[in-house]
Amino acid sequence: MAAKPDIEIAREADKRPIQEIGGKLGIPPEHLLPYGHDKAKVAQDFIAGLEGRKDGKLILVTAINPTPAGEGKTTTTVGLGDGLSRIGKTAAICIREASLGPNFGMKGGAAGGGYAQIVPMEEMNLHFTGDFHAITSAHNLLSAMIDNHIHWGNEQEIDLRRVVWRRVLDMNDRALRHTVTSLGGVANGFPRETGFDITVASEVMAILCLADDLADLQRRLGEMIVAYRRDKTPVFARDIKADGAMTVLLRDAMQPNLVQTLEHTPAFVHGGPFANIAHGCNSVIATRTALKLADYVVTEAGFGADLGAEKFFDIKCRKAGLHPDCVVLVATIRALKMNGGLAKEELSAENVTAVREGCANLGRHIQNLKGFGVPVVVAINHFTGDSEAEIAAVQTYVEGQGAEAHLCTHWAEGGKGTEALATRVAEIADAGQSQFAPLYPDEMSLWHKIECVAERIYHASEVTADTRIRAQLEEWEAQGYGHLPVCMAKTQYSFSTDPGLRGAPEGHVVPVREVRLSAGAGFVVAICGDIMTMPGLPRRPAAEAIRLNAAGEVEGLF
Ligand code: ADP
Ligand code: MG
Repeated sequence: MAAKPDIEIAREADKRPIQEIGGKLGIPPEHLLPYGHDKAKVAQDFIAGLEGRKDGKLILVTAINPTPAGEGKTTTTVGLGDGLSRIGKTAAICIREASLGPNFGMKGGAAGGGYAQIVPMEEMNLHFTGDFHAITSAHNLLSAMIDNHIHWGNEQEIDLRRVVWRRVLDMNDRALRHTVTSLGGVANGFPRETGFDITVASEVMAILCLADDLADLQRRLGEMIVAYRRDKTPVFARDIKADGAMTVLLRDAMQPNLVQTLEHTPAFVHGGPFANIAHGCNSVIATRTALKLADYVVTEAGFGADLGAEKFFDIKCRKAGLHPDCVVLVATIRALKMNGGLAKEELSAENVTAVREGCANLGRHIQNLKGFGVPVVVAINHFTGDSEAEIAAVQTYVEGQGAEAHLCTHWAEGGKGTEALATRVAEIADAGQSQFAPLYPDEMSLWHKIECVAERIYHASEVTADTRIRAQLEEWEAQGYGHLPVCMAKTQYSFSTDPGLRGAPEGHVVPVREVRLSAGAGFVVAICGDIMTMPGLPRRPAAEAIRLNAAGEVEGLF
């Protein structure tokens, strides 16, 4: 049915006033801070007053290793939320906000697709309620204060060669990856090399998404390491006295945004950290608020389950004390075929053998997720070209893995297409079978945490790193950071660090090239591959075709 472009479907949405959507969750209108008619922030005071209420069930949507097209996690998150609403449950959705940068590069939004979308999708994908602008401003305020501190005498004795705090912009702009600042003479400060990252890669973004409240936000901002002295001791943001003013800039951005799906299910869209050098989930504050207000909360983690779900469990759930009740693992016939060795051009033709081959990837994810103690259900996100034999092959395989797979047609039909999935997910969540536990204890050494993820989740035989990297980890342990979880940054396309190695590879080597400490966010990043923190635009950026039509509507964005 859904042959129309996402943007046309979204435009035809019969949106309800945001107060009505808030009403479904029992949020009184005076606690909604409206941004227009169809978006609102939920007031901090109201959220604070929810403490002590019982939590609803938490359902994580994750996926097999994706193909470059994306496999429909957001679409399925939205579809499942609508499915739960349709079967009479009080459901809410929690997803990330979209980064402005990629919109103008590759066509494609972050609000779901087909008849499983969040609206208003143009705004959600563009400036939305200004949260990312606030994060950009807070980040760059600190950057300005660091250079200003150095200019006026450098009381903290910052080593100019060791300023690690860069600047950010919510745009794909490769020209800014490496820059020299303070050129032009004495009045402009001390020239030094630095650069820009995209806003979603800012540690401020990760902090906003992990902080409990404004006080915790300020504390964490203060903990961020911005530079080192000549004796290599760290200089913190609080040493520059930036944490208070940054918190002021972020006050409104800390309040979660409420919008709706095409079928009027309430959706919290809040925060959006990178899924590689950060943990890739919406804010803790949004998830917690949703859990207090809805009986079932469906949320999404970025990338495949080897990265997204692992970080959701080991970073977000561990730190926020969340207890997931069920995991929905999204698979598509197309991605299974690619995992089975087919090239992108070969995906349209029926090929049951390739699907079966690719199921090795699905099976590995099912077993990994079960290892966290959470029940797993597979959602087959139906694409028009999928054949019945291919679908049957997946269902048979999944049964063999001790799980069940449901065919879902939400992209074409909305919540009607996920009723079976929603019914089972609700039953499983209600049964209280989940015995969630993170993969490793806080007390394990940082190096062993990296090894634990690589061996247990990626099935690697070995992790390698220079002695310099191991020494760095030990130094952080000595400084009191040893209890932090690790945040793995590697390719999303494979269990290994080689994007071309699909399926379920074993015995590969994971090389750790670099480690970074996000002391405010509270994790140690292990970089295993080339990680881009400032993307570039493609040869033909989507921006070339984006314009307003005669009716003042956005064209060409999706
Ligand atoms: P992810 O969250 O996994 O990155 P999305 O849900 O954002 O993926 O979907 C990526 C793209 O794929 C979107 O443009 C969406 O419209 C499209 N898509 C998702 N599911 C389907 C489907 N069943 N059929 C056709 N296109 C789909
Ligand atoms: Mg997504």
